[in-house]
Amino acid sequence: MFVTASAPEVDGASTAPPIISLRSASFGYADRAVVSDVTLDVRAGEVVAVLGPNGSGKSTLVRGLLGLTQHLGGDLELFGVPRDRFRDHARVGYVPQRHTLSTSVRATVEEIVATGRLVRQSWFDRPNRTDQSVIDRALDVVGLADRARADVTTLSGGQQRRVLIARALASQPDVLIMDEPTAGVDTANQHVLAEVLGRLAAQGVTMVIVTHEMDAFVDVVTRVVVIDNGRVSFDGPADDFGRQSGAVLHEHHTHHHDDEMRRAAGLPGTPGAGPLDRSGGRRA
Ligand code: ADP
Ligand code: MG
Repeated sequence: MFVTASAPEVDGASTAPPIISLRSASFGYADRAVVSDVTLDVRAGEVVAVLGPNGSGKSTLVRGLLGLTQHLGGDLELFGVPRDRFRDHARVGYVPQRHTLSTSVRATVEEIVATGRLVRQSWFDRPNRTDQSVIDRALDVVGLADRARADVTTLSGGQQRRVLIARALASQPDVLIMDEPTAGVDTANQHVLAEVLGRLAAQGVTMVIVTHEMDAFVDVVTRVVVIDNGRVSFDGPADDFGRQSGAVLHEHHTHHHDDEMRRAAGLPGTPGAGPLDRSGGRRA
């Protein structure tokens, strides 16, 4: 389905710095690390699912990328620039872990999406035709073009999640980071969301998706990173992750011997193996 899209890579990408680069990085609160020793690179075109149990540190990690949790050790670079010197905020789109917009917000869908455009506008500019067309396209890709003038409070939870994604897209980010985009969204709307992300992936948009409902995104995700108790316990191509969980399931069902377990556990990307699989995210 997603036969290599238009991602402008192949030649350029291997020399361009990774979009996100972490080296033994740790993040936390009040000087206490919650996530430790994370080493990984995210490159253009990759769609990375960050999985892991509740409380394992997924949000702490992705919020750390945005400077919203304390960076307590190791290195973090965005587009080759150390986080504390990074100023190009429009390049990083973020959809926080929240179910919906506040009901006290009285605004139209289009107005909310337009606020995502502000980071690309100078204070002396009035919104111009480019801004409007970016906003229109963002609404279109999330399937809400026909609701542009609707009051956001009249939308369902799933539709409101899509408004927030459109708002993030309005800044034309180079990477879109989403924390639990399907949380609190019913199954039908999860499929719509998965389609939206599929469309973005086909356009070559790089994404980091925190989720514990991987099922909705299996066609989109190229790489899986599992966080367990504040550490990376798996990092590898989505296919290997599928095989590994398959092997483990198989083990449970048939009571095969231990060496099969060990083989499953030895798949690429166990701690320390880190990133750098340059699968570049293109689905075969
Ligand atoms: P996940 O997103 O994987 O469910 P979180 O990153 O939200 O996990 O939380 C990981 C750990 O960090 C939890 O033990 C949680 O209690 C703690 N934590 C989260 N937010 C804060 C905070 N603002 N201050 C202190 N500890 C926090
Ligand atoms: Mg979380």
